Formats: sequence, structure tokens, C-alpha cells
Amino acid sequence: MSDGFFHEGDLVGVLTTQPLDRLLDYKAPEGGCQIGAYVEVPLGPRKVLGVVWGDGRGDWDISKVRSVIRVLDAPPMRAEMQEFLAKAGAYTLTPMTAMLRLATRAPGLSDPPSMRKIYRYGTGQVDRMTPARQKVLAVLEEYGGLAFTLKELAEQAGVGTSVVKGLVSQGAVREEDSPRDLPFPRLDPGLPGKALNADQAAAVETLNTGEGYATTLLKGVTGSGKTEVYLEAVAACLKQGRQALVLLPEIALTSEFLTRVEARFGARPAEWHSGVTMTERRRVWKMVGQGEAQFVVGARSALFLPYRDLGLIVVDEEHDTSYKQEDGVLYNARDMAVLRASLCGAKVVLASATPSLESWANAEAGKYRRVELKTRFGSAVMPDMRAIDMRVEDLPGGRWVSPTLQGEIAARIERGEQSLIFLNRRGYAPVTLCRACGNQIGCDHCDARMVEHRFLKRLMCHQCGETKPIPTTCPSCEAEDRLAPIGPGVERMGEEVSALFPDARVAVLSSDLYGTARQLKAQIEAIADGAADVIIGTQLVAKGHNFPLLTLVGVIDADLGLQGSDLRAAERTFQLMRQVAGRAGRAEKPGLALLQTFQPEHPVIRAILSGDEEGFWRAEAAEREEAGVPPFGRMAGIVLSGPEVGAVFDLGNHLARNDAPLRRVGAQVFGPAPAPIARIRGRHRVRLLVKAPKGVALQQALADWTRPLKLKGDLRLSIDIDPQTF
Ligand code: ADP
Ligand code: ZN
Repeated sequence: MSDGFFHEGDLVGVLTTQPLDRLLDYKAPEGGCQIGAYVEVPLGPRKVLGVVWGDGRGDWDISKVRSVIRVLDAPPMRAEMQEFLAKAGAYTLTPMTAMLRLATRAPGLSDPPSMRKIYRYGTGQVDRMTPARQKVLAVLEEYGGLAFTLKELAEQAGVGTSVVKGLVSQGAVREEDSPRDLPFPRLDPGLPGKALNADQAAAVETLNTGEGYATTLLKGVTGSGKTEVYLEAVAACLKQGRQALVLLPEIALTSEFLTRVEARFGARPAEWHSGVTMTERRRVWKMVGQGEAQFVVGARSALFLPYRDLGLIVVDEEHDTSYKQEDGVLYNARDMAVLRASLCGAKVVLASATPSLESWANAEAGKYRRVELKTRFGSAVMPDMRAIDMRVEDLPGGRWVSPTLQGEIAARIERGEQSLIFLNRRGYAPVTLCRACGNQIGCDHCDARMVEHRFLKRLMCHQCGETKPIPTTCPSCEAEDRLAPIGPGVERMGEEVSALFPDARVAVLSSDLYGTARQLKAQIEAIADGAADVIIGTQLVAKGHNFPLLTLVGVIDADLGLQGSDLRAAERTFQLMRQVAGRAGRAEKPGLALLQTFQPEHPVIRAILSGDEEGFWRAEAAEREEAGVPPFGRMAGIVLSGPEVGAVFDLGNHLARNDAPLRRVGAQVFGPAPAPIARIRGRHRVRLLVKAPKGVALQQALADWTRPLKLKGDLRLSIDIDPQTF
């Protein structure tokens, strides 16, 4: 190899997307290939996708080494991307083959170049409608103006390609040449932005100061202009000719945001999320690699696109738990954004009204810069926040909306304003609470609530697996028969509110109730336009949406989550309550947020009401430091899963007993216990938690610990570094 180029016949080491734990040797093809080149290689009888990763090892009989079949039409993977995948893989203990799969999510990478026809909605009438044809049209309708290849469209609709062809012959589906290489319209960072207020201008100044890598925490209440401010950082980045990426939680990817970008820069950014078709993804992937896509707005996997020159990554709502991938490769997009930026000399903006404790601590430690927007833009102010003391409210049994809250909702309906009832409960197991003293029954061995299991008729701790019968006397105040399961789902709340206000339009917003993300977004947009009087929602509604008519937020159970099975419970509750309250009073009308609570003097509730964020973070950080947990210590979760719960527990116990590699570095193991989600798709899940001091080689110890394990049958193991719940 010279200058990263391999001549025909040179031995190259190829990383493939197949689950093999080493690079495979091949000979460079006719015409040679560049290091980083995307290639197609033979593997047994198959052809698979790979990347020329480096020199071959040459420990094979050279005469038996096969040749690369062809070099694909894509810019080679850059050295910086190779390094990013390697470091991210090492951090998350993910095999490189899986990392490469993340980076090649553009499924058409190895498509033959002849596949150039695309299909979209036509105007012709169908003379004979069949169920199969209906399915094809439904898919096109759902995805609006986006185009598909023949195979994708047929697959999405679950029909044969001949059905699509039939519709083409009738003109109901249009066949066109693929626009996949069409460049994106140019964005113009020179267009004028909004006139910024002093706080905003100072924030922009900080974000844009200096060359190369730097991370800034951009803190500001909802409506203070964070988006406005980071769009100026995007402008500065684009002016330098570098690419910019804005990550948003999936649900916040609204057309509202894209329209705003268009207004600022004169064109729309490239999009990358689950609602984007394969054909479009292929185009985005390629254009990003060629540097033609200047600005990408996407969900977390947009981090793994092959940017040519990435200069800025914004992580909006950086505290959002959905940035943690909980399936497949377990990575936190916020942390990976910082890693990627540090490797390519990009800036990072972490924007939030309620930063994660991790980011707050990093700013405190001076690792991140920090800027704050303290006031809402224009006349909007943070809502008035008050507690409703549920111990003194006169509430009939089986009802959840207090008379005080009910009265406020009635007044809003009267005035044509919207109310939001917030309940972060989609129907998982409730807690057991004493109505006399407010105590929630906890585990004797853990800082965890006991969860009622209806079929077992027992209480169980999901942390340690302990169970006990459901008591009739409160273990705390000894009151008789005052224990009750709390936690109606949002759907039950819908019934209650409809009964209280028979003439009101009540909308329940929960991800379970909508088939697709697109339908859910449509519903949210309709509500924002005034299609409901009372909205009942889970934390979905806490995320970045504007509800201009909303002036009241009622939190049904502000205590929910406070004594969660989880040390992040206080942080979560604080963030969530502040975010939800921030939904009220965004426009000219002042807002009111009411928190129903049994513990109005609880420190977290008091911090939420007073808005003393610094005080809250300090107290919370001190507690975590004391406990030696993140961000002051390290943690990892080991999830074992399998079809039979007994076998999964046996494996967990075996691991727990053989913990020498962990003890060697001063790490401790807890469990096995049922995982936070104990069964998914018929598989039982059991978790071990590992806690280690900061600064130890935890990944290495974990690898040494789990490597000797023989996973028999259908058992699987996954390692989650920095688990979200612990
Ligand atoms: P955040 O991202 O913090 O919630 P936004 O950037 O969405 O805040 O700003 C809230 C609203 O105020 C938006 O409608 C935005 O257009 C408007 N706004 C913010 N800053 C300005 C400004 N300097 N000039 C005009 N409008 C602004
Ligand atoms: Zn326990």
C-alpha cells in the first residue's frame, strides 16, 4: 500500500457486515482500491458488503485468497470515520461488524446501478380495485410525496411487484427515473436571521468562538430561543463550507421545524429518520458523503452518516432518554456526538431546558462551556406553578382529577383555551400507596418500589427479585386498609375527563394509540391547531411541541417516578415536570401549571415549584457522588435473555458467582434480577448490574468476565454501558 492505495493483487483486510470477529483477507481488484473503499466481496457462496479497512494479515495460503468483486460507487470511508467506529465500538463493547452495519444503513449501497426507476403516486384512476392494489396505494399515501423502488414498494405493501406494475399501466402509480443523485437545493447561510436579544446574541457569540472541537451546553427555558440561537451556529458552520447536523428526538422531527429551517436558509435540510424511505436514504447517504448535503436533520442514527466535513452537531433536548438506543447497538447519541465531534474537529451544542446531570456536571467541571437563556422570548413567561395537596383534596374514590384542577379546566374550556393533563403512565404495573401517610411500599433490600403483579397476587421488587404478599396494613404508619394501587393509564384518564366534561373535545396522546409515528405527528399538529379542549398525554407531549392555545397544565401524579426503582428518578421527575409545565403559556396568554402531589414538601417537588435548578443539581450531584454512581462512578448493565426464565436465571447466577475479573478492578456485581422490562417479544430478560469506580478499565474487565461464557441454545447476552435505569 502507498498513500492508502492498494494495487491489483495486493492483500487487503476487509471489514464486512457479517458477524465474524476478524477482518477477512482479499486481493485488491483490477484497478486497485483505496483504503476505506466500500466493496463487494465473496463470502462462501454469497456476496457481501464490506469496507477495505487496512492491510491483509497474509496468514492464509495466498493462492486461496479470493479477489474483491467490485468497488462500489461511493466515496471511501474516511480515516476519521474508521476511528469513530472503532472507538464507539470499543466503548460500547460492540463488535466492529455491528458498527459497520450502523454506518451502512443505506440499504441500497450494494444495489446494481441499473435499478434506477422509482415509483410514486400517479393521477390515473384504477378501473378494478383489489385488496392488493389498495395496499400499494395506502403505502404511497402514508408516505406522502416520497418515492420507492419497485422492490421496496412491493415489500412495504406486502404484495408482488406485478401488482405495482399493474397500477403503473393504469397511471395510478407513476414510474420515473431515480432522482437519487440529484443534489439537494443549496442552503444560503447568508440570509438574515432574526434580530437577537442581548442574551441570545451573547450565546451565539460563545457557540461560535474558537476553531475546532468544543462542546457547549445551551440551557434555556422552553421558548427562550434556543433553536433560534443554534440555527445561528448552523449558519456560521455552513458559511465555513462545513456540514451541520441537528439531532432531535424522533418525535420532535416535525414539519414545523423543517419549515423554520427553510425560512432561515431558503431551503430544506436533508432528513434522516424512520419515516424516510429507502430510496431517499440512499440519496441522503450518498450526498452526505459527497458533501452535497450541507445540513442534515435527523434521529440519532444520523450520527453514523459518512459526512465529508462535519463542523457542527446540535443535540436538541439533550437530556431526552430516547437518545439512548435500547435495541441492537446500545449507545447514547449524546455521548457519541461528543466523541465524533472531538475526532473531526467539530463543535457540539447540547440544548435543553433541563440538562442531564451528566452534562451539567461536565459543565461544572469545565469540560463543556455553558451558556444560558434566562427568559422566554417576547412577552411569554414561565407559567405560575403550584402544588395541589392531594391529602386535603376532597376526591371521590376512583377519580384522579382533583376538584381544584377540575375547576381550572372548566374555566379554560369556557374561555376557549386548552388544558393538558399529564400522566406518564402507559399502563405498566402500578405502585402501592398508603392513602393515610403517602408512603409507597418499598423493597426491604433495595431503594426500589414494590410493583404489584396482578396474576401472581404479590408485590415484587424488580431490582433484586424479592416478592411478598400484598399487605393490608401500611408498613409505615400501620393504618389498616388504606393501601391502594395508584396509576391509572392515560386511557382511563380519558374516560374520567370525558365524564367530567361531556361536551368537551378530549384527545388522548399516547404512542400506543397510533399505528405510526406519522399518524401521531398529524394528531399532535391538529391539536396544536385547536382540535381539542383537553389533551391527556404521556411524556410524548413534553417534547418540543408548540401548543399556542394551551394555558393550563395539570400533572395528575407528580410523585410518580419520585421513588422509582432508579437513582435517576429525581432527575427525571424534575426534568419532566419542568418540561411539561413549560408547555403552558407560550403565546401571549399566561400559563398555569398545577402539580397534584401527596408530598408537597418533598425536596424535589419543592425544587420543581421554586425553579431552583442550581440547588437541585447540587443536591442531586452530591447524592450520586456519595453513592459512587454515574457521572461519578461507572455502571454497566448485562442483560441476559432467552425463551425460558429458569435457564436465563441460571446463566445470570453463574456469571454472578464467577466475578473474579470484575473484583480485580474493584468492580461489584449486583443481581441477577428481572430486567426493567422483564419480557419482550416472548423472551425473558434478566439483568446484572456492575458498578465500578471512575477510571478503571471497565470495558476490558467486562470482556474478560463475559468472554468465557458459552451461550447455549437461544440464550443471548448484551452489555449496556451507562444504562439509563439503574
Ligand atoms: P426554544 O428552542 O428555546 O424553545 P425557540 O427558538 O423555538 O425557543 O423560540 C421560541 C419562539 O420565539 C419561536 O417562535 C421563535 O421564532 C421566537 N423567537 C425567539 N427568538 C427570537 C428573536 N430573536 N426574534 C424573533 N422571534 C424570536
Ligand atoms: Zn429489592
